[in-house]
Amino acid sequence: MKNLNLSFKLLLLLLLPLLVQAQRIVKSNAKFDHVDPMFWWVGMKNPKLQVMVHGKAIAGYTVKVDYPGVKLVEVHKVENPNYLFIDLEIAADAKAGKFPIRFLENGKNKGSYSYELKNRDKSASRIQGVTNKDLIYFLMPDRFSNGDQSNDVVKSMAEKTMNRAEMYARHGGDIQGVINHFDYLKALGATTIWMTPEIENDMTNASYHGYAVTDHYKIDPRYGTNEFYKSYVDQAHAQGLKIIKDIVHNHIGTGHWMFKDMPMKDWLNQWPVFTQTSYRDEPVMDPHAAESDKKKTVDGWFVNSMPDLNERNPFVQNYLTQNHIWWIEYAGIDGLRLDTYAYNDAPYMADWATKLKSEFPSLTIFGETLVNSVPSQAFFTQGNTVNRGLDTQLPGITDNVLKNTIYEALNGKIGWTDGVFRLYNVLSQDFLYQDPSRNVIFWDNHDMSRFYSVINEDFDKYKSGMALLLTMRGIPQLYYGTEILMKNFSDPDGLVRSDFPGGWASDQSNKFTAAGRNKQENEAWNFVSKLANYRKNSPALQTGKMIQYVPEDGVYVYFRCAVENGGKSVMVILNAEDKAKILKTGRFAEQMTNTTSLKNILTDEKLNDFKTIAVPAKTTLVLELN
Ligand code: CA
Repeated sequence: MKNLNLSFKLLLLLLLPLLVQAQRIVKSNAKFDHVDPMFWWVGMKNPKLQVMVHGKAIAGYTVKVDYPGVKLVEVHKVENPNYLFIDLEIAADAKAGKFPIRFLENGKNKGSYSYELKNRDKSASRIQGVTNKDLIYFLMPDRFSNGDQSNDVVKSMAEKTMNRAEMYARHGGDIQGVINHFDYLKALGATTIWMTPEIENDMTNASYHGYAVTDHYKIDPRYGTNEFYKSYVDQAHAQGLKIIKDIVHNHIGTGHWMFKDMPMKDWLNQWPVFTQTSYRDEPVMDPHAAESDKKKTVDGWFVNSMPDLNERNPFVQNYLTQNHIWWIEYAGIDGLRLDTYAYNDAPYMADWATKLKSEFPSLTIFGETLVNSVPSQAFFTQGNTVNRGLDTQLPGITDNVLKNTIYEALNGKIGWTDGVFRLYNVLSQDFLYQDPSRNVIFWDNHDMSRFYSVINEDFDKYKSGMALLLTMRGIPQLYYGTEILMKNFSDPDGLVRSDFPGGWASDQSNKFTAAGRNKQENEAWNFVSKLANYRKNSPALQTGKMIQYVPEDGVYVYFRCAVENGGKSVMVILNAEDKAKILKTGRFAEQMTNTTSLKNILTDEKLNDFKTIAVPAKTTLVLELN
C-alpha cells in the first residue's frame, strides 16, 4: 500500500508540470481570428476608432491598453461572445508606434495583439480625386487580362476552378493584367481606372464579379495581395493614372466569415422568409410611398447569396466607415464608386460621406443610381433637401438617364419631346443638381447591353455617340471593349462581361495592338483615342461651360466654352437623322463673334466659310473655334 501510494505520488509529481502546462495552454492565449482594422494611423481628423476583435470566447477577457495618447474609452460585449468592440480615442499629439492590446483573465495576462498606429502618407500623388478633366476606363479584372497565371486557381478558395468557356466561372484575369496594359490605356486617352471590386469574394459560384464581399480587409488572392494592390495604385500614379475603388455598403456575401459567426442578430436586416429588394428606387423618395415598399427597397436582400447589412446598427456603421477610410489611407485611392446607392440607409450614407470628406477633402465619390428620371437621380445628390430635410452629401451619381436619352436620340426617334428634344430637355434639368459636372456619364457598363449592340451595330451612330460621350458635361466613363466594338445584349449579363481579346497568352488575336484589330476596330479605336487625347488638352471640353441651343430641323447644337486663360471653344453638332442636313450658323453668333475658322477635330479639316455647315446623316461634328 505504502509503495503504491509512493508510486502514485511520484507519478503525480512527474505529471504535475505537464498538467499545469496543459492547463496553461488551454487557458492562456486569448485567440483572435480577426482584428479589424488591423492597424490605424495617427493624425486622423476623427480621433475615434472602434476595433472589432473576433476570437473564440474573446468576450470573457478584460481589455487593457497602455500607450501615451491612446485612451481606452469603452469595451462593448455583444450577443455573440466571440466578439469585442473596443472604443479607442487617439489624441491629436499621439505618436506613431506599436502597443499591445492586452487580454486579461482574473488580472492575469492571457494574450495580446500588437496594434500599430502608423504615420499618414501625405505624398502629393495620393488621393488626387477624379474630375471632369478625366476619362474613366471601367473594367472587370477577371475579364480584362491574365497577367499572373500562378494565381488563377487558389486551392483554399471555395470556387476551386477556372474555366474560360463558362460565362460565370473565373477566367483568371487579375491586377497584374491591368498593370501590363497601363500603356494601352494611356494611349487610348484614359486617365483613370475603375475596376469591379477587387476585395475577397470567397463564394462557391460566380465569385468573379466581386460584389459579394467575404473579407472587407483583404484583396482577393486571385487578384493579388493587399500589398500588391497598394503597389498597383502607386504604379498607376507614377504613370499619371488615377484609381477608383468600387465599394459595397449594402450587402455582403454569404461566404463572409462574419456571416458564418454573426456578432449579433441585427447585424443583418432579417426577414421571416427570404425577401428580395424590389430594385425600385421610387419608394425612398415618393411622398405617397407605402412603408412596406420602402422597407422592401432598403432592407430586402439583393439576392439570396448577398445578405443585406443593417446600416442602422452603429457597430455596422463604424465597421464599414472605418474600412473605407482604411483602404483610402492605406492605398492612396483617388475615388470611390458606391454600389447600389439607392438601397442603402440614407441617414447613415450622409454621415458616412461627411466623415470620408472630412478625412480626405480631395477624394471623389459617386454613387451608382440606376434610376429612370432626372429628379430621382438628383434626389440622391448633395444639396437637394427639398421636402426631405436630409442632405446626402453625395457629390456625384452615375447618369443613367442621360444614357437612355442618348440611345433614343442616336436611334433617330423624332418628336416634340422625343429624340434630340428629349436630350435637350434632360440637360436643361441640370438645374436640379448642385453641380452636374460631377455626374459620371456613360453609354454602357457591366449591368446593361453594350452600346454597339443597342445602336444596332451602326458604325456611324457609334462614332456619333463616342463624340457625345467625350464632349458633354460630366466625367466620361468608357466600358472596357467599347473602344474595339465589343458587343452583346445583357440577357444574361454574362454576355456583356466577356474577356478582352488578347488579355490571355493563348488568345488567337490580340486587340490591345493595332495589328490584332481589324480595319473597323482600328477605326473605332483611333476615333476614341484621337478625341480622348484632344480632350486631355482641352480645358473647354473638360471644364468649360456648356451652352445648348433649342434643336431646329432635328439638329442639336451645343458649345463648350473656352475657360479663362486657355484653350479654344468647341462646337458640337448632332444630326441623328438618316439624311444629311445643312446647318445655318447665324443663330449661334453670341458664341462665334470672333471666330474666323473652324477645325474638325476628328478629320483635321478646316472650315473658313461656316455661314452654313453641312452635317452628314447620323453624325456628330466636333469643331474647334479659331
Ligand atoms: Ca491570374
